[in-house]
Amino acid sequence: MQQYFLNQKLHLNLEVELTNEILHHLKTVLRSNDGYEFCLVDVSHQAFLAELFNGHAKIIKKLAVDCELDIDVTVILSLIKNERFDFCLQKLTELGVKRIVPLMAHRSIIKVKDEEKKLSRYQKIVTEAAEQSRRLYVPKIEAFAKIDDLEKYKSDYNYVAYEKNFDKQIDYRLIDRAFTYVIGPEGGFEEYEIAKLLAMGFKTMSLGKRILRAETAAIYVMANLGGNQR
Ligand code: SAM
Repeated sequence: MQQYFLNQKLHLNLEVELTNEILHHLKTVLRSNDGYEFCLVDVSHQAFLAELFNGHAKIIKKLAVDCELDIDVTVILSLIKNERFDFCLQKLTELGVKRIVPLMAHRSIIKVKDEEKKLSRYQKIVTEAAEQSRRLYVPKIEAFAKIDDLEKYKSDYNYVAYEKNFDKQIDYRLIDRAFTYVIGPEGGFEEYEIAKLLAMGFKTMSLGKRILRAETAAIYVMANLGGNQR
């Protein structure tokens, strides 16, 4: 069943106007007619069954959906090549991330010209991935950050994935509260960046013996944190 997010409060028997984007997708892409049923998730992350009629939606049933991770995860993701970054946004969304912070690391080769445009493209990617994976939340894409901006994204647990110390893998089963992790760019972090993160209270964690691509590393941690089991 097709799902859309609507940025307003919904309730039973409400007749609600749909956005042009949703109408376009329903009418032109799906070629659906009046009577077509789909899912709407409202601003309080509640899912409803809706029926299309005359360019509006009638809310016909509240849906009991429990698909969100039981922990709040923030990923601070260094900028890497565009298509790989986009792929990573999509996979992290499917795996339940709540917040993504695009990090301009020292060795990030991608330079951002139009930040607004880039951020709205990222938000579109995660919104579509949230619709496809039937989530109740659309992950928040935060503003581009530099290493010194990261203090405000800390959670109960704060780790930076660092490939230079193989000994310290974390036991993901013990993670029971909000978790923030940082992934470096293709060339890895500079020593001074790691030092700054440690000074902020982040701990280093190994992801094992092999060197993973940044997008693999980000997805690996998210999948271990719970993926689709929690
Ligand atoms: N410096 C790496 C090298 O020697 O080729 C390249 C960095 S790796 C492609 C990109 C990022 O993924 C790293 O900055 C780190 O955050 C994470 N990463 C990859 N493999 C890892 C591992 N085995 N342990 C911890 N972090 C890892």
